[in-house]
Amino acid sequence: MESQKITLPVARPCVSFWQQTTRSFPYLHANKNEPVPEESKYVIIGSGISGALTAFELIQGGVPAGDITIFEAREAASGASSRNAGHVRPDAFRGFQVYKQLHGPGQALKIIANEKLVFERVKEFVDKHGVQCDFNPTTTFDVCMTQEFADFNARSFKEYQEAGGDVSHIKFYGGEEARRVTRVQKAVAAYEWPAGSSHPAKLTQWLLTQSIEKGIRLFTHCPVTSVTRSASSSSTDQVAWDVETPRGTIKASTVVHCTNAFAPHLLPQLSQFITPNRAQAHAFVPPAPLNSSNILPGTMSLRHSLKHFYSVAQRRADGIIILGAPIANPNISAAAAASRLVADDAIVNEEVRDDSVKNFEACFPECEKGKLSHGEGLLHAWTGIIGMTTDSVPFVGKIESLPGQWVCAGFNGHGMARIFTCAPGVAKLILGGSWDDTGLPECFEITEERLEKLRKGVSGSVF
Ligand SMILES: Cc1cc2nc3c(=O)[nH]c(=O)nc-3n(C[C@H](O)[C@H](O)[C@H](O)COP(=O)(O)OP(=O)(O)OC[C@H]3O[C@@H](n4cnc5c(N)ncnc54)[C@H](O)[C@@H]3O)c2cc1C
Repeated sequence: MESQKITLPVARPCVSFWQQTTRSFPYLHANKNEPVPEESKYVIIGSGISGALTAFELIQGGVPAGDITIFEAREAASGASSRNAGHVRPDAFRGFQVYKQLHGPGQALKIIANEKLVFERVKEFVDKHGVQCDFNPTTTFDVCMTQEFADFNARSFKEYQEAGGDVSHIKFYGGEEARRVTRVQKAVAAYEWPAGSSHPAKLTQWLLTQSIEKGIRLFTHCPVTSVTRSASSSSTDQVAWDVETPRGTIKASTVVHCTNAFAPHLLPQLSQFITPNRAQAHAFVPPAPLNSSNILPGTMSLRHSLKHFYSVAQRRADGIIILGAPIANPNISAAAAASRLVADDAIVNEEVRDDSVKNFEACFPECEKGKLSHGEGLLHAWTGIIGMTTDSVPFVGKIESLPGQWVCAGFNGHGMARIFTCAPGVAKLILGGSWDDTGLPECFEITEERLEKLRKGVSGSVF
């Protein structure tokens, strides 16, 4: 299987809406010019939501904060966690057909149940800690824009239900009713279930702040360039790792790779299985028919087919609508679609931007250009890199061939619906827990057996 050479994140990425609105975060450039310490018991690579939550959970589990160092290649949380579309949106049943083929019905049920749990965990966490991240627990619609997709979803729903999946929280609307509840005039059918949205940069920054204030050291603008076995490792039980950066080498016994799409840069054995893909999001200022008391009550995914979709989440905090889109779809030229494989989040694809806005206008004609005042309409567009895996589920756990190294990566553009169980899971494992203690589906574990299966070419995509 051909694999892409994964580099480090580009040095000067574009600035997302979430980053634009959090430029005063005091730790954005933490320890930017400081040399790195010689030793740290735990090193976490990556300061996105995976790295930030893993650190938080290790401290909750009893690790002294001063024993943990986080390295971030650019400013704090500058990857997908500050560039996404803000949706905390579990898959309620749609992916079941594909997960079933890839992982069997038992695992497919667990994958979907885990996503529901993540939404509940995020909600509980934000409530418990009073996290100011504009979290909006609401419902979401899968809006079927074509009969073909309505048929696909109906099949998934039926298969999921027949396999024993919980559908008690899902509502179905056909034809006229779907158009009324979603306000999308071309809707063929719709499904609704609990989901939410958040300001993802604020959530990640909150997590980092808690840990930093307890004593964790975060080194920003400090990419890890290699992790090699330290000469001082005495035996297989006591392996130490030299974590190399441009500002010095730090020795650690535990290294956690929370680098998502970029994981294969330091773990080339994953380069066949994690592929960086560009995705794009857009902020849109709505006109009167969609502002104030007319704000959209729920979030949505406008679905033309399994791979051709647009997400819509209107923020309670300011009414701004966030439109998310993958780079490739049938309306996008082959050249633009091919650019999705370039792991460069400095550039915005104008074709994707225009197509996203056009699709939104087609669904909500009150937002057509001619009907907007100056200052309404498209506010900003930005790009981010997602980490696609060949079997549509993340890699979590111990890297068997590298004792002391762990991974929590490969979220398939869906991390907000997964990381809140995966990062606590990896922290539990590091602290000596078993896979059962994580409560995660077994198929998420990075075992040699899974990698061997993937090497033989098992693959499929839900996203
Ligand atoms: C446009 C877009 C829209 C999306 N929309 C949604 C959505 O609505 N809902 C959803 O659930 N998910 C969405 N996602 C996906 C979601 O954002 C990710 O799954 C999630 O943020 C991954 O978090 P992470 O911490 O694993 O990775 P990241 O946030 O990417 O963090 C990894 C960090 O590691 C750093 N890094 C990489 N290599 C190194 C190195 N060698 N040394 C030091 N640092 C390094 C990077 O700079 C980065 O900050 C979207 C993604 C994008 C790009």
